[in-house]
Amino acid sequence: MASLFPDIKHQHRNCIESAISRAFRLAEDNGKKFGANQVRVLEALLQDHKAVSAYDIVDRINDTGKRLQAVQVYRALDSLMELGLVHRVQSANAYIACTIEDECRNPQLLFCSSCKRVAELASESISALISKTAKQSHFKLEQGLVELVGLCPDCVDA
Ligand SMILES: [Zn+2]
Ligand SMILES: [Zn+2]
Ligand SMILES: [Zn+2]
Repeated sequence: MASLFPDIKHQHRNCIESAISRAFRLAEDNGKKFGANQVRVLEALLQDHKAVSAYDIVDRINDTGKRLQAVQVYRALDSLMELGLVHRVQSANAYIACTIEDECRNPQLLFCSSCKRVAELASESISALISKTAKQSHFKLEQGLVELVGLCPDCVDA
C-alpha cells in the first residue's frame, strides 16, 4: 500500500482544485450557501497538507489582502467542520482541510508530530468498529474521529 502522505513532488494544485470543487458540491447537497469567508479559510488551509492553527489561518488570510477577524475565521471553521470539510487536529490545536473524496465525518487522522502534516484514512471498518463498541458500552458517541500521532515517511527517514 502506498503511503497516505502525498509525495513531496506531487501536483498540489490538483489537491486544491478537487477539495474546493468538492466543498461547493457538498455545501449545495446540504442546502448550505458557501460564503466568501468559508472559501478563504478553506483556501488558507489548503496551502499545504499541514495542520494550521486558527491564528495562523488569520495570518495567512491577512497576508493575501482583505482582512478577516479571528471571530470570522472561527465561525467559518465551525461551518466547514459541520460539513466535514475541515477537521480539528486536537494534538496540534489546529485544523486541516479534508482531502477525502466522499462525505467525511469521522476519519482517522495521521498527524506527523515533526513536520505537522496530516494524512487521512477513512476506513469504514474502523469507524464501524468504533460505533459498535460505543453502542455495546452504552456510550453515546458524539464524535468518532480518531487521531494517530507519529512520524510520516519523510520524517522517519530524515
Ligand atoms: Zn497536495
Ligand atoms: Zn476528511
Ligand atoms: Zn513528517
